[in-house]
Amino acid sequence: MIISVDLRIGIGTDVHRLVEGRSMRIAGLDWPAETSGPEGHSDGDVVLHAVCDALLSAAGLGDLGSNFGTSEPEWAGAAGNALLAETLVRVRAAGWQVSNVAVQLIGNRPRMGSRRAEAEAALAEAHGISVSLSATTTDGLGLTGRGEGIAAVATALITR
Ligand SMILES: [Zn+2]
Repeated sequence: MIISVDLRIGIGTDVHRLVEGRSMRIAGLDWPAETSGPEGHSDGDVVLHAVCDALLSAAGLGDLGSNFGTSEPEWAGAAGNALLAETLVRVRAAGWQVSNVAVQLIGNRPRMGSRRAEAEAALAEAHGISVSLSATTTDGLGLTGRGEGIAAVATALITR
């Protein structure tokens, strides 16, 4: 018997400038001790934005910009969790189930290590998907190393 499984992978990247005085919300968590946060109309949650991008990429549905950009102004300023919920509605409506998502935060701050399990559990609970979260710095190099910005890269595997 031949079992055919339709699998697709996707990739997503997001970067935001960090500015003093903005609150930091990353990976769906608040980081109240941080003194700077991502700039943007939305919360600038690079982790969730990259996850959305990867899911849309895997499903062949475009990207964050083409789904929630200027053509759909009602999504301007939406929280990362709201964007992820709507992304999953669209991906599932296209017939796909999420196998898993891996996402890596790139930056000096926040220090993800102590709250990684908390963030993963919150995403699983809120969205019913398996997300594994990791983090890295860039050894002081580049826009993330100098603390000017924060970035994330995600991959998603979906199936039907
Ligand atoms: Zn973003």
